[in-house]
Amino acid sequence: MIIQFDDIPPDGLRLVIDDLSWFPEEFDKKGSIKVDIELERQENNLVFLWGDIRATLVLQCDRCLEKFEFPLSGRFKVDFELVKNSETAVVADEHFCSASEMDTILLDRPEIDIDEVLAQQVRLSVPMKNVCSDNCKGICPQCGANLNIGDDACRCQAVSESPFKTLSKLMNS
Ligand SMILES: [Zn+2]
Ligand SMILES: [Zn+2]
Repeated sequence: MIIQFDDIPPDGLRLVIDDLSWFPEEFDKKGSIKVDIELERQENNLVFLWGDIRATLVLQCDRCLEKFEFPLSGRFKVDFELVKNSETAVVADEHFCSASEMDTILLDRPEIDIDEVLAQQVRLSVPMKNVCSDNCKGICPQCGANLNIGDDACRCQAVSESPFKTLSKLMNS
């Protein structure tokens, strides 16, 4: 969805986005996604956008490789500033680089690509390292069993531990 600066009335524009065509393909999601957008035109060449995305992503744990649900929610704000062509040429490639650069996006046309903003917000909200829980034990490097499931999943530990158990028995007796 593209919003022109001129589409935004003086008292602001509210959007509720139902269609999910913007959702980045690289992520799995669960259930529905709720998106609210508010646009406010500050000056001729400046637009503020407040957004709220509520979704549940399905990520893969980096440690145990199991899928887990990651709730995504929270408001964000992005400013769009219309600048002259010569100014944008320098920054065009860096528009969507990092969280800090999301604060102000420089445009060379008075139009906002809402889909791109939303997709980028999802990407920025996902942590660099995905771990299903702080206590995730990961997989056994020897047999690949998921160590979160329980003692029975992996026998490697039991084998390597047994000499010590025998030793401690000897020392205690
Ligand atoms: Zn895990
Ligand atoms: Zn094992």
